[in-house]
Amino acid sequence: MTRPDGLPEQILHFIGGKQVPSVSGATFENLHPVTNQAYCTVAAGAAADVSAAVAAAHAAFVDGPWAGLLPRARAKVLHKIADAIVSRDERIAQLEAWDTGLPITQARGQARRAAENFRFFADLIVGLNEDAFRVGDVQLNYVVRQPKGVAGLITPWNTPFMLETWKLAPSLAAGCTVVLKPAEWTPLSASLLPQIMAEAGVPEGVFNIVHGIGEDAGAALVAHPDVPLISFTGETTTGQIIMRSGADHLKALSMELGGKSPCVVFADADLDKALDGAVFGVFSLNGERCTAGSRILVQRSIYDDFVARLAERARNVTVGPPSDPATQIGALVHPEHYERVLAYVAIGQAEGARLVAGGRRPDHLAEGNFLAATVFADVTPEMRIFQEEIFGPVVCVTPFENEDEAVSLANDTRYGLAAYIWTSDLKRGHRVARSIQSGMTWLNSHNVRDLRTPFGGIKASGLGHEGGHHSIDFYTDQRVIHVAVGDPGTPKFGVAP
Ligand code: NAD
Repeated sequence: MTRPDGLPEQILHFIGGKQVPSVSGATFENLHPVTNQAYCTVAAGAAADVSAAVAAAHAAFVDGPWAGLLPRARAKVLHKIADAIVSRDERIAQLEAWDTGLPITQARGQARRAAENFRFFADLIVGLNEDAFRVGDVQLNYVVRQPKGVAGLITPWNTPFMLETWKLAPSLAAGCTVVLKPAEWTPLSASLLPQIMAEAGVPEGVFNIVHGIGEDAGAALVAHPDVPLISFTGETTTGQIIMRSGADHLKALSMELGGKSPCVVFADADLDKALDGAVFGVFSLNGERCTAGSRILVQRSIYDDFVARLAERARNVTVGPPSDPATQIGALVHPEHYERVLAYVAIGQAEGARLVAGGRRPDHLAEGNFLAATVFADVTPEMRIFQEEIFGPVVCVTPFENEDEAVSLANDTRYGLAAYIWTSDLKRGHRVARSIQSGMTWLNSHNVRDLRTPFGGIKASGLGHEGGHHSIDFYTDQRVIHVAVGDPGTPKFGVAP
């Protein structure tokens, strides 16, 4: 793979407008997933670094001017951030592909979406109104929105830059100041953010980064008393740990967690489109996608044929170097994760599922975390590969007889993030969409999302929603002021009869 020019040798924290090493001097190594060789060191943050970053963010919040700016003024800065991203989007994509192993074409899409995140929330904040309620001629009640304070943003490694901006854009738009803790396996693209923020005119202290291992830097951010809210995206089990720790200070928490989403294909569906949607839905982004349709449920009458077509498509998915524009699946992010995904392939075989495609390293890729697109057929609900999130290019296929069984299989995991339904019977489509327990459902469509819609999962897939005004609701407190404009008629306690 072509090595991008000018890769940093070390990645530092960004605190109060300055790049700084850890107070302890500790670092960790960052690997390139095509060779698994370390190519830079990263500052390993801990409580002292988090304290410094929170102090900078707290001072910037209290002393202003960011939190008190009119929405239009903050929006102008957010548009400049978007411009700065667009001006270096190829660089962002190259670094992302190098660090995460995502195919370059898909990394480019993620960079474009990062800029769009800032434009979207810049526009939203300008147009957002605060509610007012007239109570007859007696009272006027109006709502005042205020940024909550220092937002702690904790993000995963699967689409790092896009997900970081998905949290940065609304938190900054709302007037919060922030401390971002990027995922330790993919810190590279975030190292561009300080320059982007400076170019856009974000005041010092408003935006801070602390790198580090989750259990150290992430945990310290969650435990810090001056961080009233945490927006977290990551694994369900990590979310549970964060909720326990956040309870000490009654923090506001937004939890975007794992998934094991069903893709239900009825016999009457447009099967060519369903196949396109199913293949893209689980193998794009290396299968490291929270909303991946990783359980394909297929009606029995078309099952054998659909499995055969799916397996053939999977065998034709191009696995290769992330920098090659022809690559559809690149390298999985980290050797530890690669081993975990391979372990699930072995588990599936041991459980008796039928491996009909992939399951191994492609012959032409001797090193690095490469896995061919993998399809298991005849998967049953008791199997671990049906129940557990694999987060790689591995899909399970299960037959169903009728609508009831399809719904019951779809709901038979602890997760509830996304669902995909393919049918030509729209009445059934709506009925099934209402019955499947998922935060987001696509009917006869792959995963395309309008940023105004609520994003989030139910069951073990999350808590709360971001997206559109839901994000602003999370990053602001809404306080209501009740004003008497007539006589509300106060009862006269204590007056002698
Ligand atoms: P992870 O939970 O291991 O890590 C996520 C982040 O949390 C990292 O920055 C990590 O350093 C930090 N962290 C780890 N332990 C912590 C602790 N004790 N306290 C505070 N922070 C801690 O997740 P991951 O492996 O990076 O990402 C993959 C997971 O993310 C998958 O489960 C995937 O489904 C999920 N995900 C969900 C969404 C969504 O929107 N629902 C989107 C993308 C990814």
